[in-house]
Amino acid sequence: MYLKQCNECKIEKNIIYFSKRKISKDGHRSKCRGCNNIRRQKKYKLNPGHIKEKSILYYYENVEQRKQATSNYRKNNPEKIKILMQKWLHENREHHNKRSTLWAKNHPDIVNARVAKRSAKKSNEPLIG
Ligand SMILES: [Zn+2]
Repeated sequence: MYLKQCNECKIEKNIIYFSKRKISKDGHRSKCRGCNNIRRQKKYKLNPGHIKEKSILYYYENVEQRKQATSNYRKNNPEKIKILMQKWLHENREHHNKRSTLWAKNHPDIVNARVAKRSAKKSNEPLIG
């Protein structure tokens, strides 16, 4: 276990309590995660608009890269995505039902086309028994 002293609170803590920082000598920040969080919250309270602006800017500057990364992750981890989707659906069943009802109301053409397609497929299937 590697200990490191925080520059802010001066407490010696396990290295896992320090965020990674590639350009630092030991590869970690000089302040512990707790102190960093406090500092970030103080900064945010002083100027919330600035942080929001920055994150919005970051989002728009990297939107294509983020989309690509997300799409790659989805492609490479279909099982994980499936489990996540099922979990989400299980936890948000009502929300999902409400949204799909609303969607169906707003897209009657698509719904009707789907119903027509389904019934056409059914009538083409050979009868069993
Ligand atoms: Zn600290």
